[in-house]
Amino acid sequence: MSAPQKVNLLGFSREQMETFFLEMGEKKFRAQQVMKWIHHHQADHFDQMTDVGKALRQKLTEVAEIRGPKVLHEGISRDGTRKWVFEADGGGAVETVFIPDGRRGTLCVSSQVGCAVDCGFCSTGKQGFQRDLTSAEIIGQVWQAGRAFGPRRNLGEHPITNVVMMGMGEPLLNYGEVLTAMRIMKDDLGYGIGKKRITLSTSGVVPKIDQLSQDLDVALAVSLHAPNDELRNELVPLNRKYPLAELMAACKRYSDNITHRHNTITMEYVMLRDVNDKPEHARQLVKLLNGIPVKVNLIPFNPFPHAGYERSRKKDILEFHKFLNNHGLLTTVRTTRGDDIDAACGQLVGTVQDRTRRAERWKKSVFHRTEQADGNAASV
Ligand code: SAH
Ligand code: SF4
Repeated sequence: MSAPQKVNLLGFSREQMETFFLEMGEKKFRAQQVMKWIHHHQADHFDQMTDVGKALRQKLTEVAEIRGPKVLHEGISRDGTRKWVFEADGGGAVETVFIPDGRRGTLCVSSQVGCAVDCGFCSTGKQGFQRDLTSAEIIGQVWQAGRAFGPRRNLGEHPITNVVMMGMGEPLLNYGEVLTAMRIMKDDLGYGIGKKRITLSTSGVVPKIDQLSQDLDVALAVSLHAPNDELRNELVPLNRKYPLAELMAACKRYSDNITHRHNTITMEYVMLRDVNDKPEHARQLVKLLNGIPVKVNLIPFNPFPHAGYERSRKKDILEFHKFLNNHGLLTTVRTTRGDDIDAACGQLVGTVQDRTRRAERWKKSVFHRTEQADGNAASV
């Protein structure tokens, strides 16, 4: 008979950790001690926890573990960008990217193995969906990256100052696990990262945007990419389920609900040559975003094999940028980082595997699931 599986404490939020210790007949403060050892001191074994008595350490070793995702590959780009490829249990891999920028260090974290939304310009989408990551695998990316930087002295002295949920996967289609991981990112017993420094990027899962605004205060980015439904249906197929009018209304509600002063939503817009980069698109965009506090981030398309799209011409990007800024939309152009190690947006899989049929099947089931969850706020 195989030994019972140990519970992985890496992905436990403070509340879950407290419940775990209370159920063991231990005091609640053990949760604080153990979380600090895991996330502040990067411990991976209970014997390292010197302020926890030997008997309890022994007991913990029997029933629990601290297990981060296994590093399959690590790369450092000429510009300082770092990339890790992690093995996902049961097959597949996910990627995490660290982007240094002066005093800021942003970690781009994955939420799923593959993605079912199937945006044609995204290499993750082409890969199809394999599975959701667990909270341990999501926070494990932050933990492993932290370990690569060496021991941490204090909160606030960490190279990772910001986290963006912009790696592989659609975070709002893996809501519960992503929420738990983001709670640990924010918690002082975890990584103590401020609410404005954690950004969740979504292709537009409307009911979950509303739910997030109730559950956790973090910054929101929306992958817009098109100013009208016809084009967006093509580029971001989820738009057929949640069209622009609904998405924009959800964005408005989100910015009305979040408590901090910087309630702007980032609108991501990938620049695809002759597809969505014409003056008429810029005009439509200004109209669409009227009345919503946003900043626009133009992302020059990063090519990958068999993408079927090209990056917009430089002059078109500049004109688009200028038009939006001149019409009151604060707009930036994202610089491409780490493309020599395939760490730029949308390049996060080395080999594009065609799992389209599998993705089709899964998509049907997940959209069905999302529909069911829409009417059930307690489903997370
Ligand atoms: N699924 C989420 C988060 C991951 S994608 C979402 O779509 O928002 C993170 C960002 O990278 C999104 O804005 C996405 O549209 C963009 N992206 C995907 N493929 C890209 C590519 N090939 N070039 C540039 N940006 C890309
Ligand atoms: Fe999924 Fe985002 Fe890629 Fe679209 S852009 S396929 S939602 S990861």
